[in-house]
Amino acid sequence: MAVTALAQDGSPFFSMLPPEIRDMIYQDVWSTIGSKQHIYKDNERWSHVPCIADYSTGDNRFEKFTQSARGSEEEYHWVKRLKSEWCYHWCCEQSTPSWQRIQDERNMLWKDENVKQASPSGLMSLLLVCKRMYHEALPSLCANTTFIFTDLSEAHEWLSLYGGSPEKLPIRSLEICILTSQNMTELYFPTSEEGPNPTFGHSNGSNSNGSNSNGSNSNGSNSNGSHPRISRRSNPWQRVCDQLAILPNLQSLYIWFHSRDLREWHKRMSETCFFARLFHVHVKDRNKFVLALPDLPLKPKRGLPSHHFLENEMLEDAPFVVERGPRPNNWRVHLMASGLRGP
Ligand SMILES: [Zn+2]
Repeated sequence: MAVTALAQDGSPFFSMLPPEIRDMIYQDVWSTIGSKQHIYKDNERWSHVPCIADYSTGDNRFEKFTQSARGSEEEYHWVKRLKSEWCYHWCCEQSTPSWQRIQDERNMLWKDENVKQASPSGLMSLLLVCKRMYHEALPSLCANTTFIFTDLSEAHEWLSLYGGSPEKLPIRSLEICILTSQNMTELYFPTSEEGPNPTFGHSNGSNSNGSNSNGSNSNGSNSNGSHPRISRRSNPWQRVCDQLAILPNLQSLYIWFHSRDLREWHKRMSETCFFARLFHVHVKDRNKFVLALPDLPLKPKRGLPSHHFLENEMLEDAPFVVERGPRPNNWRVHLMASGLRGP
């Protein structure tokens, strides 16, 4: 127990219940308020919202978009969801105060009855009871919650804060869901087999809304307001991988990727280069370490040689399994935004 925390001997909770019973109570609380929590920053303050996304049928946003009537409100909203930085967690994003603050009347009036809303989780109420409960419950929270990140810089910052004390804060389960920028994938694209890697400095990036750091700008700013140079060895994704590689207690890690690039994934993404650092991340059970990537077409249609893709012999020594699935067709979504629906 921390030195400054009072023993709270007058409390029956602490004086009558043994630690193992108190821990069972904490676990019950975590599972009631949501064992999967999004961690994000709202106006520079850490915030959280329970995850309500149902991924059992995969990412169905593009399918829903193509099924909606042309020019309808439904179609308009599916386009917005397709562009969400939270990807298939778009419904979780819509439960955040930061999302609701910036919505115009059109967005707030249109209701899809099938979309759930997360309620405030009350996660902090237990931690704020007293110092003793804070110090006792926090390790339990870390050990029994899946923390979800949709922004690489936020993931890196949070892991820097809380990932360095594995005894006190045994982080066991993480989910990282990233819509990466074209700048990031281009960093790893082979200019030639042994050629120099592209490096971006003072990039204004391809991240059009400028609010997310999944590869191009925002939180990468240094103290004088300029952007540090971004290279293969120093970029938000590599920094997150470095943090993951030193976590000793990971029991579950799910990493989901898609690119904002209008060109198809298999034409611009060297998976073996981009995800090489994940070979240094350790999760106790390999099957609980999942890298979720877009479907690949047959080899003749790909833009890179086969050794750039994580499949077959390229996965022999991998500490993770690759799970492939459909992704939104960015080009068709772009056409839609231009008033054309495409073929
Ligand atoms: Zn979610």
